[in-house]
Amino acid sequence: MTQRQSTVTGRTANATAATPAPSDASPLQASSSPERPRPRPKRGVPEGLWLKCNGCQATIYRKEAEKMLNVCPQCGFHWYVSARQRIDQLFDPGTFEQWDDQLLPTDPLGFSDKKPYAKRIVAEQKRTGLSDAALTGTGMIRARRVACGVTDSSFIMGSMGSVVGERLARLVERATAQSLPLIIISASGGGARMHEGILSLMQMAKVSAALARYSEAGGLFISVLTNPTMGGVAASFASLGDLVFAEPRALIGFAGPRTIKATIRVELPPGFQTSEFLLEHGFIDRIIARQDLKSEIARAIDYCGD
Ligand SMILES: [Zn+2]
Repeated sequence: MTQRQSTVTGRTANATAATPAPSDASPLQASSSPERPRPRPKRGVPEGLWLKCNGCQATIYRKEAEKMLNVCPQCGFHWYVSARQRIDQLFDPGTFEQWDDQLLPTDPLGFSDKKPYAKRIVAEQKRTGLSDAALTGTGMIRARRVACGVTDSSFIMGSMGSVVGERLARLVERATAQSLPLIIISASGGGARMHEGILSLMQMAKVSAALARYSEAGGLFISVLTNPTMGGVAASFASLGDLVFAEPRALIGFAGPRTIKATIRVELPPGFQTSEFLLEHGFIDRIIARQDLKSEIARAIDYCGD
């Protein structure tokens, strides 16, 4: 996927220097070997002082990118941000209160692919600091209280297992009961989580049904699509916003381009699963750069009279 970062030049010895080198390697060896076989995050912004931009290929000073909320200062490429970073970027400081973090994933099928699902869950939780791929709660965006959910593509592709679906459904139900505007920010490269089989597939319908009741009650749902929003997430709640916003150049679609091409045997137009293409074709309402997201959400809430 496009957000998979490779990068980091040899000038980035700081990360190595900060952690003690393994006893069998001198610091010199450690800094000259390209990558120690320590566990690397599968997704996300790589460690180091410098980042290579996937948009313009420039080498960017990490701190400068971070100041811009992980956006390339030269070309505007939007890097991955974690669900927690997203909350920090969006909410007035100290106002976010998490809901349903006590709901934890289980392994109802005893599923195993490369490793048993039960072990995978624990490993992902350790690596990401999240208990599952969605984080939900309430807080203030420019002093307006909202209910908000964020999915994180670094946790099993941001796929929708039972816990993700249940947290989102409860989020929507609370937003309905408390008459709160609802924001869901999607970053899900996977759709249903295959490790949970049919239980995952049910989540699309469950969350969508909760959204229908929210809509009947007159609620305002702003769906924000970020890179990537694919599969069952794109095919359910992410597409159901009263307003659908997207970050620039995000990958948004259902199946991947290779699958589609192999199925319908038609040459696909260039960039057909990007925010820009989908805006032109009426699938999304606005493309909003990350730095403007907070103020534009607040403005949309005011405009819609919530
Ligand atoms: Zn760039």
